[in-house]
Amino acid sequence: MSIASLKAAMREQDACALVFSEENGFYFTSFASTNGVLLVTADRAVYFTDSRYLEAARQTIASCDDILDLQSFETSVKPLLVSLGVKKIMIEGERLSVARWQALKKALPDAVFDSEALDGIINGIRARKRGDEVEKIVKAQRIAEEALRLLLPQVKVGAVERELALELDTTMRRLGAQDVSFETILISGKETSKPHGVPSDKKIERGDFVTIDFGALYQGYHSDMTRTFAVCEVSDEMARIYDTVLQAQLAGLAALAPGKVCRDVDKVSRDLIAAAGFGDRFGHGLGHSVGVEIHEYPYLNPRCDAVLQPGNVVTVEPGIYIPGFCGVRIEDMALIMEAGFENLVVYPKELIVLP
Ligand code: ZN
Ligand code: ZN
Repeated sequence: MSIASLKAAMREQDACALVFSEENGFYFTSFASTNGVLLVTADRAVYFTDSRYLEAARQTIASCDDILDLQSFETSVKPLLVSLGVKKIMIEGERLSVARWQALKKALPDAVFDSEALDGIINGIRARKRGDEVEKIVKAQRIAEEALRLLLPQVKVGAVERELALELDTTMRRLGAQDVSFETILISGKETSKPHGVPSDKKIERGDFVTIDFGALYQGYHSDMTRTFAVCEVSDEMARIYDTVLQAQLAGLAALAPGKVCRDVDKVSRDLIAAAGFGDRFGHGLGHSVGVEIHEYPYLNPRCDAVLQPGNVVTVEPGIYIPGFCGVRIEDMALIMEAGFENLVVYPKELIVLP
């Protein structure tokens, strides 16, 4: 139970946690609200939300001891905080707005706040996915892959990027996704050199690469994958770029295991791309974790010294991007196991040349 981990951390810190962010609130309650406050002490969790959400919250939330009406912080949360007599109040320094922070200090002028440690504590809890979380991520991924399979016959010369992206998005919704995981990247030709290019009215042309980076949102959990396809034909140089990315992606996956340091996994793929002569064409990190947010801790990049643990769900997505020519990215999402990993993406990734 995730909230039990947060209670244990508060016992250790001799503090209470005040959680305002939507994503952390959702993580601990499995309830989505744009106006909720979660108060967690060593032995109690109380969720406050306003009348728009209160009935649903009481029907849904099983992880909290009390679910109370949120009129305002001053009249609803503060009296409970004061009556608990906690010494230290931990807040989400990375997620709290300056306005909220100033209002808090004004409301509780004598309180001791810690705005530094809570983000790390919660990131650490969120990083190790529970079984039910993994199930939701896998379901989101199955929806995404089925949608891509259904879209692929339409990816051909003359098709418009924006229309294909829209078709992919609506297909995911039809298959049960509550939303897209993030704005779909579906780009072609020279535009594929932009890692986060935006679909336009450009038509697919013969000899293009088409990069599709997308995911589904299912019961609050995201999926993420990327595939790059060739249209009608592929030049030797494009095939060599594709193969280099594929080898780097396979090597990065093979490096995944509990106990591995994130930046070392990044280096495996990065070195392989550099050795092929494309060292300056791979600017972003190798991957990121996925869960209630599309990008979350820990990250596979040259700066992250986190150690992989069973239950982490991370992407492995090397790319090569050559402005004015083309780009290739291949992305899978993997679950770190007690030994090794399980690839949650089953879609093939050998170069497919579409008819
Ligand atoms: Zn992606
Ligand atoms: Zn990604």
